[in-house]
Amino acid sequence: MAIKYEKLIPRFLGYVKQNTRSDENSTTIPSTERQTVFLNKLAEELKSVGLSDVKISSVNSYLTAELPSNLDYDVPVLGLISHIDTADFNSENIKPKIVENYDGKSVIKLDDEGKYTLDPKVFPSLNSYAGQTLITTSGDTLLGSDDKSGVSEIITAMEYLIGHPEIKHGKVKIGLGPDEEIGTGADKFDVKDFGADFAYTVDGGPVGQLEYETFSAAGLKVHITGKDVHPGSAKGIMINSMSIANEFQNALPSDEVPEKTDGREGFFHLISINGTVDATDLSYIIRDFERTGLEDRKNKVNQIVSDLNKKYSEETVKIDMKDQYYNMIDIIKDHMDVVKIAEHAMKNLDIEPDEAAVRGGTDGSKISFMGLPTPNLFAGGENMHGRFEYVAEESMEKAVDVVLEIIKLNNDNKK
Ligand SMILES: [Zn+2]
Repeated sequence: MAIKYEKLIPRFLGYVKQNTRSDENSTTIPSTERQTVFLNKLAEELKSVGLSDVKISSVNSYLTAELPSNLDYDVPVLGLISHIDTADFNSENIKPKIVENYDGKSVIKLDDEGKYTLDPKVFPSLNSYAGQTLITTSGDTLLGSDDKSGVSEIITAMEYLIGHPEIKHGKVKIGLGPDEEIGTGADKFDVKDFGADFAYTVDGGPVGQLEYETFSAAGLKVHITGKDVHPGSAKGIMINSMSIANEFQNALPSDEVPEKTDGREGFFHLISINGTVDATDLSYIIRDFERTGLEDRKNKVNQIVSDLNKKYSEETVKIDMKDQYYNMIDIIKDHMDVVKIAEHAMKNLDIEPDEAAVRGGTDGSKISFMGLPTPNLFAGGENMHGRFEYVAEESMEKAVDVVLEIIKLNNDNKK
């Protein structure tokens, strides 16, 4: 392909080879030391690219930097955010493979034996990449396009502007953070210190994705206490906590689960059960697009708990239910100009914006509620979070184009 951004792909290939998997069982920030190693390397790179004010926060471990304005008037400050950690899948010794000029229909062997393949019959998205250059895994790891693509694209866009001082632009702040995949990275994001007026996470999927509606989310832990006695003399005495766990699960609507819902439907998702007669722990995530829907679901859980405790005894079922993030539309609806400028940028580049609601959350969900409206832009990747992950070089190039176009359009927003 014609190379517009010379360092984009080499940069990406270098990043994905560095293991930055996060760990949800860790309590440190970042959750893994390997993320710190990568952030320190990136900080050096940002300095050598020519960005100012490069620093890593001791509070939230975000690596932030600034591209100063070269305009002689003020425009809103743009923030660009992505995450450096990768999902919970093998990330050791990642060996990205390059498939040049893919025909859009062949089966791609990931490992040498062909145990794992990218087959257009299984992954029809492959059809739309005819004539493009794909970067895939070698079968035993994920790729980490989520979100090393976003990281590479943001840095490459900054490098391009620094290399082309004749292109006018306002001030741009960049923020590269840890632990998005374990849902905690943005918890301590510092909107005031970041200093942007509007922002985007560059963390979406295929070309065109522009996301500003997410789930509202809660996490639920259920602890059930039973009573274990010798089974031979248990009549009327034994309380099997696993049976009560079963009752709890069956009291939830059986059709409102991830495997039976799509579009704008919410769910209760049982993630794990761990039980003995004596005690059982269940873990759930609860999702809904409407805030009232989330509250209804939480009320439903409280009702089931109260019914079971009435039936057995108080304290048989104990729960810990916490809100995790909310649908960012509640904030974005008052800042639709942030969506409009991204739409406008894509249309200028002949990219059709795809604005479906995300059945998940983004760091932008939290950051928007902290006061910085932050929709999500595509970074290019497909099949995220596993061995079938891939990204087209052309998609990554387009993501850089969109970022640069947004920066250009923002020049018209004189303050
Ligand atoms: Zn991501």
